[in-house]
Amino acid sequence: MLFNSPIQTIDHPVLSEQEIALWVKRDDLIHPFVSGNKGRKLKYLLADAIQQQKTTLVTFGGAYSNHLLATAFAAKEHGLQAIGYVRGEEIQASSNAVLKHCLDLGMEIRPIDRNSYRNKQSIFEENFRDDARAYFIDEGGCSELAAKGVSELIGELPEVYSHVCCACGTGTTLAGIAMGLQKAKLPTQALGIAVLKGADFLRDDIRKLAPNCSNWQLFTEYHCGGYAQSNTDLLAWMKDFSRYSDLPLEPVYTGKAFYALFQLIKNGSFLKNSRILMIHTGGIIPA
Ligand SMILES: *Cc1c(COP(=O)(O)O)cnc(C)c1O
Repeated sequence: MLFNSPIQTIDHPVLSEQEIALWVKRDDLIHPFVSGNKGRKLKYLLADAIQQQKTTLVTFGGAYSNHLLATAFAAKEHGLQAIGYVRGEEIQASSNAVLKHCLDLGMEIRPIDRNSYRNKQSIFEENFRDDARAYFIDEGGCSELAAKGVSELIGELPEVYSHVCCACGTGTTLAGIAMGLQKAKLPTQALGIAVLKGADFLRDDIRKLAPNCSNWQLFTEYHCGGYAQSNTDLLAWMKDFSRYSDLPLEPVYTGKAFYALFQLIKNGSFLKNSRILMIHTGGIIPA
């Protein structure tokens, strides 16, 4: 998989008013199924699984999880088996496009009730106690190896930005960006927009993934109702934005992140002449 995705400029009246330059790094173009950051996150996890001679990737996600799909694809590509535990015992594997793609790619889908789903490590331990060839990958790929994979995107940047932004689910992508910036000794701040409600706990998770990094900030007030929820402000903003740009956005991750960034820009949170790079983390899954 080739990661070096293109960077394009975004033009918008709010940006010229506030004298702010905005670019977007099109990680959504990396691959049609392995959405944006998910490919980066899986890079070292896959290498680790293969090096340990594992044969089955076991992972976890919601019914619309881009991570499940990315894992299904990566497993197939590397000749590995894949098992995906899906949150909600009522979920039918054929019920939506994401899970259908997973099945087509050979992933075994195992729906699991929401309560048991909370403890992924114990699901893994109970079901794979006698299977030394199974490899645990946490929900969303969340891990130090995943953050390491993401951190490498900093090496692809052609210039210095004041801020690099992304949407946050588990916070792994933000942690990776912060680590990459710190390692490259750049003065850039990493900004994350949490897409779930009550996401303040993510700060601890990010601190664990990116110890010794203080070059990041997480915004938790732009969830628009919660994970995979939207409100009329978000949808109206996305519609309006589409008049200025043909950048594909969806309301779960990247739409929310851009919406939040534009609210922050409008309310004067950035200095004039800020140079902001948004990472388009993907999430546009073909039907
Ligand atoms: C998974 C995902 C994210 C969240 O990434 P984390 O590393 O879990 O914070 C952001 N955007 C898209 C499109 C995703 O699929």
